[in-house]
Amino acid sequence: MNFQIAILEGDGVGPEIVKEAVLLLQQIGEQYGHSFEFNYGKIGGIALDEVGNPLPEETIDLCKNSDAVLLGAVGGPKWDQEPPNRRPETGLLKIRKELELFANIRPVKVYEPLIETSPLKEDVIKGADFVIVRELTGGIYFGTPRERKVTDNGLEVIDTLVYKESEIERILIEAFELANQRNKKLTSVDKANVLESSRVWREVANRISVQYPEVELQHMLVDNAAMQLIKNPTQFDVIVTENMFGDILSDEASVITGSIGLLPSASLGVGPSLYEPIHGSAPDIAGQNVANPLATLSSVALMLRYSLGLHKEAQDIEEAIDEVLQKGFKTKDIAKQTEPSLTTTEMGEKVRNTLASKKMIVN
Ligand code: NAD
Repeated sequence: MNFQIAILEGDGVGPEIVKEAVLLLQQIGEQYGHSFEFNYGKIGGIALDEVGNPLPEETIDLCKNSDAVLLGAVGGPKWDQEPPNRRPETGLLKIRKELELFANIRPVKVYEPLIETSPLKEDVIKGADFVIVRELTGGIYFGTPRERKVTDNGLEVIDTLVYKESEIERILIEAFELANQRNKKLTSVDKANVLESSRVWREVANRISVQYPEVELQHMLVDNAAMQLIKNPTQFDVIVTENMFGDILSDEASVITGSIGLLPSASLGVGPSLYEPIHGSAPDIAGQNVANPLATLSSVALMLRYSLGLHKEAQDIEEAIDEVLQKGFKTKDIAKQTEPSLTTTEMGEKVRNTLASKKMIVN
């Protein structure tokens, strides 16, 4: 099959890690008989520098006309003083909006060989393997009015939390579907003891659960969920929650695995889906060939599974990553100080070589 992939390298370590992802996709193509066409677009600080806009129109068109989008990361100190509409991160928020990507999927898996790199105890995290589904386009990050005004009693600030029932429905359906494909347990996280939006969220979840009788639905308050993630993360299979709660909980959960350089993400919605590592542009290590490419390579596996329907290929990549880690190969972020470490390119190569042993090359 022939697939059009939009490649947005972005800033900092973006080009280094995306290069390894493209090489991996090329190998998938050769090994399993698919053809990938890579079309590069600009986003973030580099786009601002070169064309004066963190998300040029050509990039939006390119993404809309692709089967899937692969992104590195955006941002860096060079652009920190830019006004909000010219910040690199604005480009990322805008592409999510343009493609109507309403569901952010973050798998969190503890790799057995890396258990020691986690700040949590081994017996707490061993076997943890769950997915956080975060609503991405609604809630308090987008609601209006948002303003600050000076009153007789001093400064007053307003942020507004808005959700349409249809927005709640579509993210919950996405989460039920995912739970149905996994271990059939869905934890819906809210603040229904305080927020009206959470009470509606709960009602909608209960209503949809009737259509998924095999999925066990549990409701959990967000403050309890924050505690349970650290106390007993193995209890979770799929967690679904609104935008701000998901933002906070997914970052908390990433700590369980030990390094931010390991975790992939998928943003699904109406337009082509977007795949990216959860970490940022890591300007402190950019250009040194030491960034961990595994989060981006795992994002490729998600792309193959969710956008391209290539399930065996996705699983083979995930198994190859597991095997490389089992053999003790590590990049600097996950190696102990006394251990040798691989560069970005060496780690990419190890994964490709391991993948090559999965299946004979076609032709
Ligand atoms: P960051 O994720 O870039 O880095 C945090 C720490 O993790 C740094 O020490 C970094 O070296 C390390 N790290 C990150 N990715 C790594 C990898 N693959 N391998 C090894 N180590 C890795 O977060 P930050 O420093 O807060 O932000 C840097 C820039 O990235 C900022 O401009 C921020 O706005 C931007 N950012 C972008 C995204 C995105 O593009 N999705 C997400 C978060 C932050």
